[in-house]
Amino acid sequence: MSLLQDAKNWVRSRSIHVAYVDVGSCNGCDIEILACLAPRYDIEQYGIYVHNNPREADILLVVGAMTPPWVERLPALWAKIPAPKAAIAIGNCPVSGCVYNRRETYILGPVAKYIPIAAEVPGCPPRPTEILSAVLAVAPTVFRDYEVNRS
Ligand code: SF4
Repeated sequence: MSLLQDAKNWVRSRSIHVAYVDVGSCNGCDIEILACLAPRYDIEQYGIYVHNNPREADILLVVGAMTPPWVERLPALWAKIPAPKAAIAIGNCPVSGCVYNRRETYILGPVAKYIPIAAEVPGCPPRPTEILSAVLAVAPTVFRDYEVNRS
């Protein structure tokens, strides 16, 4: 059985909530995340629900290159998400700044400098299947931590 099928069976017994934040993107990665919601990829069949209330989120998707307005806002947003939680960097921008990483721009390093990043999905932009696989790969860690916190 494939990783996706294994994960699908496992995650279906529960659900996981995903929020996403754009800290300075071209919107290319946002479109790929939105494609995950469309019928072709249908992220909800894996028990994953996307909305933007951080207080109900388990996983935070971060897109875009780190820009000055987010230096304080991103850690504040991260603090609102209850543990257990995980953040995933989507695309090259939150990892390296991608095409915006030039001396004359205001890119302030990888988002991992500001919040803990559990996984990175490289690409400009990454494909929806890669985003989906990353969420499915990180989800068991979140649920494991949930069980540890409960016991
Ligand atoms: S990684 Fe590429 S597609 Fe994604 S936000 Fe950056 S420039 Fe745009």
